[in-house]
Amino acid sequence: MKTLGLLGGMSAESTTLYYQELNRLVRERLGGLHSAQLLLWSVDFAGIADLQARGEWAQAGAVLADAARRLEGAGAQAILICANTMHLVADQVQAAVGVPVIHIADATADAVKAAGCSRPLLLATKFTMEKDFYRGRLAARGIEAVVPDQADRDLLHAIIYDELCQGVISAVSKAQVLAMIAKDGSADCVIFGCTEVGLLLAPGDLAVPVVDTALVHARAGVDFALG
Ligand code: GLU
Repeated sequence: MKTLGLLGGMSAESTTLYYQELNRLVRERLGGLHSAQLLLWSVDFAGIADLQARGEWAQAGAVLADAARRLEGAGAQAILICANTMHLVADQVQAAVGVPVIHIADATADAVKAAGCSRPLLLATKFTMEKDFYRGRLAARGIEAVVPDQADRDLLHAIIYDELCQGVISAVSKAQVLAMIAKDGSADCVIFGCTEVGLLLAPGDLAVPVVDTALVHARAGVDFALG
């Protein structure tokens, strides 16, 4: 089994999901007492979120690139950035190491296609919904993601940073996000495009297929680790 290096803490709430899912999948595939061989570098998210808010992406990327180098030095054979938003600096992280960075948008595009879908509603931070690094990468794979309107994007962004990343799960916010999804009439599936959204919604809450990026990214990691 290969060793995966996790860049986590973005937020710590969803890194927990990665840890659980990686271990669950390895046990499912190998049985018995098998579990994933992992290294975790978990950042203090306050500093990263501050750099994001100020648009200092190169500096945030330098923090992650330095952490990725340390993970590689400790034996990581691939890197997982355990968040969608910070894939904005995935190229900077990849340039810093000799091992592959397993890209969350590629795992997501594969899962959307496997569900027989091509027009997902993307629920994510404003950075992920509005900048090109994510939707562009999906589009290059034939996936045309749609996003909520401006007011709903602002609301969802606030729910992610002010609640989900701080361990707050609110029934009011859940109803608001479900209303957002119901408003859209054009999508054939929903991408939980922020790794914390799965803490708020479950696939069973929706009538259309769901792609939870934390789960499909973890699966891509296990595919790599187990060859
Ligand atoms: N975990 C989130 C994501 O998947 C949001 C937090 C962050 O900005 O990294 O985008």
